[in-house]
Amino acid sequence: MENKAIIIIDMLNDFVTGDLKSERGQRIVPKLKKLVETARKKGIPVIYSNDAHLPEDPEVVYRWGKHAIRGTKGAEVIPELKPTKKDYVLEKRTYSGFFETGLDSLLRSLYHGEGVKTVILGGLHTNICVRHTAADAFFRGYKIIIAKDGVEAFTPREHKEGLKYLENIYNAKIMPVDKILKELK
Ligand code: ZN
Repeated sequence: MENKAIIIIDMLNDFVTGDLKSERGQRIVPKLKKLVETARKKGIPVIYSNDAHLPEDPEVVYRWGKHAIRGTKGAEVIPELKPTKKDYVLEKRTYSGFFETGLDSLLRSLYHGEGVKTVILGGLHTNICVRHTAADAFFRGYKIIIAKDGVEAFTPREHKEGLKYLENIYNAKIMPVDKILKELK
């Protein structure tokens, strides 16, 4: 695997235990913890892509209602996955982690300017923010790995169909976290 980065999407209080909570979101926490801890040890960049909404955001107004409002407890990463000082934390205002966030320029600057080639995505939700982030990664030429047991959706069906879509449309490799860990050099 070439220069890689882990991107943890929306593992926030509101999506795990708060306003838009789901038990399915809770299930992926141990695997993601293992993934970020191993990445840190090996010097692989860990990037958090976090919803940080304004109440005026279209997603809040038209679709989901109040969630992950910037500066609130609900918009904080869950305590189990709390970012360290070396991690990168980027705020977003809609589904894609690339949309007006500086994520692309960050990825290009890492590895002493060589840039990240492969992004490893984990978090919530398979068919929403993971999917839109994968789309934007694909458009920009990144290879995509999805942590199979490190992403989830509100329902099993959305999760399953979401994974299939990522594989078919963005050529994403769907890999269990344990397999990813073996490949992290
Ligand atoms: Zn949102």
